[in-house]
Amino acid sequence: QTASQPATPPSTDQRKKAVKTAPTSTKPDEDESSSPENDSDIDQKALKEKLEDEIIAQLRGVDPAAAKQIFSEIVVHGDEVHWDDIAGLEAAKSSLKEAVVYPFLRPDLFRGLREPVRGMLLFGPPGTGKTMLARAVATESNSTFFSISASSLTSKYLGESEKLVRALFAIARKLSPSIVFVDEIDSIMGSRNNEGENESSRRIKNEFLVQWSSLSSAAAGKKGAQPEDGDDEEEDERVLVLAATNLPWSIDEAARRRFVRRQYIPLPEMETRKKQLAKLLTHQKHTLTDEDFDEVLQLTDGYSGSDITSLAKDAAMGPLRELGDKLLFTPRDQIRPIALHDVKNSLCYIKPSVSTDGLEQYEDWAQKFGSSG
Ligand code: ADP
Repeated sequence: QTASQPATPPSTDQRKKAVKTAPTSTKPDEDESSSPENDSDIDQKALKEKLEDEIIAQLRGVDPAAAKQIFSEIVVHGDEVHWDDIAGLEAAKSSLKEAVVYPFLRPDLFRGLREPVRGMLLFGPPGTGKTMLARAVATESNSTFFSISASSLTSKYLGESEKLVRALFAIARKLSPSIVFVDEIDSIMGSRNNEGENESSRRIKNEFLVQWSSLSSAAAGKKGAQPEDGDDEEEDERVLVLAATNLPWSIDEAARRRFVRRQYIPLPEMETRKKQLAKLLTHQKHTLTDEDFDEVLQLTDGYSGSDITSLAKDAAMGPLRELGDKLLFTPRDQIRPIALHDVKNSLCYIKPSVSTDGLEQYEDWAQKFGSSG
């Protein structure tokens, strides 16, 4: 980017660039005070703000303050996850590629009958890689990524939350292709008879559903006006709502229906745990043989991906732990490798976080409402 600014509305690339450099309040450790800004940072920041203001000025019926908040708090970037970082979950990966990544990269192929879905739900026990999958989709699809949690949309001021939801969808459209990722969607889209549903969460839910529906109707309108093989790619507003939940059964029925794809993200199979564990140990000195690995895999039946990560981290501490204070003056190359007994030790107190009973509930819901096993 040069110092000269366009007088005309920014191009898609410029808009993307502005968004990609947006700071994110979800990372408190990136506090401005800890990294003194240099001139080019200030330039970047000014440029970003200018482009954001230009975009905001073009949005009709959107509260500028709400739009600012969406830009500054919700658009996240830089936290790159690639498909290979995620062990296993092949079915989920191909489903996401087909539903999101390919259509975003080759919009010309996904028209008419192949129109991409507007909503996809990832459900399953906690710690199984749902958030990682969403992050990988963001990286691989080259789209603008909005990561929302219920708390970022909830305002104590009446009416403010709806404004935020409207601004979110308006900006997502403007910067399309976009993915609106909502973690813990159940807390925004809880079913009506849920206890504790108050007026404000009902309003957020309704506004979200209205805005979401308007995406499909805009697309349908365009589909009618445009032949399937039309080449008007510029006008394509591709916005997908991708959501994750550990409590799929508490999602409102109307919302559930809007998630055309519902992908079950189960606990990892033995093969997946093996890949994940091997990856975690790649850059560590260890003495685990194939037989040791097999033993650990038998012992970790029922562990989630995040339990496996905790286990490996804890086991890696074993050699340091036994040194006690000597750790402070032991040269690095004299620290012994991680051994099977370290892992076994850690297994004593790193237990599976998902109960077997809980698991049945997911399997049942997947049978009833899931897109694939
Ligand atoms: P969820 O969103 O399903 O609760 P996350 O995606 O946040 O789970 O995963 C939590 C952590 O668990 C990740 O940061 C990662 O360390 C680990 N993890 C979970 N699943 C996998 C996987 N399939 N491959 C690699 N790491 C995983």
